[in-house]
Amino acid sequence: MAHCVVPEAEAILDKEYPVLDKGFIRLVDYLGGDERVVQSARVSYGEGTKSYREDAGLIDYLLRHQHTSPFEQVVLTFHVKLPIFVARQWIRHRTARLNEISGRYSVMKDDFYVPAPEDVALQSDDNKQGRSAEALEAAAAEAVRVAMAGGQRQSYGDYTALIDQGIARELARINLPLSLYTEWYWQIDLHNLFHFLALRLDSHAQKEIRLYAEVLLDITKKVAPRCCESFERHTLGGVSFSREEFAELKRRLGDSEADSITAGSTELKGKAALTGKALERFEEKLKSGKQK
Ligand SMILES: Cc1cc2nc3c(=O)[nH]c(=O)nc-3n(C[C@H](O)[C@H](O)[C@H](O)COP(=O)(O)OP(=O)(O)OC[C@H]3O[C@@H](n4cnc5c(N)ncnc54)[C@H](O)[C@@H]3O)c2cc1C
Repeated sequence: MAHCVVPEAEAILDKEYPVLDKGFIRLVDYLGGDERVVQSARVSYGEGTKSYREDAGLIDYLLRHQHTSPFEQVVLTFHVKLPIFVARQWIRHRTARLNEISGRYSVMKDDFYVPAPEDVALQSDDNKQGRSAEALEAAAAEAVRVAMAGGQRQSYGDYTALIDQGIARELARINLPLSLYTEWYWQIDLHNLFHFLALRLDSHAQKEIRLYAEVLLDITKKVAPRCCESFERHTLGGVSFSREEFAELKRRLGDSEADSITAGSTELKGKAALTGKALERFEEKLKSGKQK
């Protein structure tokens, strides 16, 4: 057993990976890597290190079977600069430890997020929680950006005026908008980081947090490349089917046992298992390989 040093991770310690217009992620520190997952899993069997191929196979087996505790033995600490509206989504992931800059203690910096022109879009017609896939026409997008930047300037001006009057920083800050950048140290183990990434790399997540998740995954690949490969293969690239979808799939493959899958369900007996929206979702899943 040994302390794990991962040269690829050492090489990027403290390197700033830019995200959005003014944000970043830095890997501050890490504990363990692929080797630690293997070491800790083998404790169960009292076995030592084996060949590289066997180690990669073991990691893949553990991830595939959701034998998650060895992945909790790997811990990463990140320094993140992110807009507050992204932070509010991020903070919902409770299985991490964090320390954030204090707006009661420090004067907040004049750093606000303004979306790039190609990210300015109308409300989506078919997704209440999202934006349309089409960007606005250039002049309209620029007008939105100018309006946003104007509001931010006004609000930061009001903030500094209150600070200059000696108003407490904890009060002066309360009218600052969600586009203000904040910073934190965020520490999480690899199992829970994968859970975060599965949710926040998904196309349903807001683009801004997705961009952070993409960088987190790139950095994590330096620390634990084999684990990330298995995560990409089974979690990101895998597709799960409901009982009814599975029966439909088997039926299409000509499996005569297909109906026995839904046989236990009285309301489905003798009926087409999938109809309407459920059938549409299934077809879409087969086409795109993504959960809907
Ligand atoms: C696309 C998207 C849209 C969303 N929209 C909304 C929204 O509109 N409104 C909203 O409020 N939230 C929303 N969320 C947040 C979402 O509901 C979850 O709070 C968030 O994704 C964190 O997931 P989690 O609880 O699994 O993660 P974590 O907090 O990291 O927890 C990981 C796992 O640990 C367990 N766990 C952790 N803490 C506890 C606990 N105290 N009690 C029991 N089990 C625990 C759970 O099994 C959990 O799955 C959205 C998330 C996504 C990805």
